[in-house]
Amino acid sequence: MRSMPEKPLSSDALQALLDFHVEAGVDLALDETPHNRFAEPKAPERAQASPRPEPARGEAPRPEARTPAPARPLPKAAAGTPEDAASLAREQARQAASLEELEAILQTFEGCTLKFSAKNLAFHDGNPGGRVMLVGEAPGADEDRIGKPFMGRSGQLLDRMLAAVGLDRSQVYIANVVPWRPPGNRTPTPQEIAICKPFIERQIELASPEILVCLGGPAAQNLLNVKDGILRTRGRWFDYKAADGRTIRALPTLHPAYLLRQPLQKRLGWRDFAALRRALDGAGAA
Ligand code: URA
Repeated sequence: MRSMPEKPLSSDALQALLDFHVEAGVDLALDETPHNRFAEPKAPERAQASPRPEPARGEAPRPEARTPAPARPLPKAAAGTPEDAASLAREQARQAASLEELEAILQTFEGCTLKFSAKNLAFHDGNPGGRVMLVGEAPGADEDRIGKPFMGRSGQLLDRMLAAVGLDRSQVYIANVVPWRPPGNRTPTPQEIAICKPFIERQIELASPEILVCLGGPAAQNLLNVKDGILRTRGRWFDYKAADGRTIRALPTLHPAYLLRQPLQKRLGWRDFAALRRALDGAGAA
């Protein structure tokens, strides 16, 4: 049987295909061909390619050869093993005497490979002097583009939740456990989190909020060292021990992205934010 000649896709079909990929999280092209980065192949000996002759004046440029260009590997983290990178992060984070210094250190820190695929560092938003600090997991596409946490749909819902208890971004400080976007919005690996953790810990210490709100399970588990999932920990008060010995009251709650997917759970989110309001009122005006 003769196979049908392949028809080119219509622009609508191409758009639908693109939308599908974006929804599936495939919105970042790192390379044209897949690579097993774990196999760490040796860099191939470059064959001494004879230089392509320049086209004669007036001649159309010669088309590129069809053989795929060697993949441009992402730069390796400068610090060697993830353990080396985490200890470098601890050392550098300790050196920051202010939030500005911490951000500047992160801008030059090369121990986390996420930095090389991200467009921007999404270090913070809001008021570093706010009584409340909210910490999410990691930036998404909008945050990566703008360079600030919670800029997309989750951020809009977060703003509405804050407004419901009389708060806005001028009164709270916002950050993420991991300040660079993982490619395609994948979950950060335990190694990436371990490398970034000293920075968010120092950021919390320097911001020194009265109340720390952990947005979602990963933030709660990594900052509060709890194993339970967020549906068990949300709405309960924990003690966060800052490196300077200070204890900060901490409240895990559901991540706004989860609430967008599970709108019926919003009532639990509102409950947690009402508890936040009561805590602020109990300890003085917000
Ligand atoms: N989700 C997060 O955890 N952080 C952001 O900044 C955006 C979405």
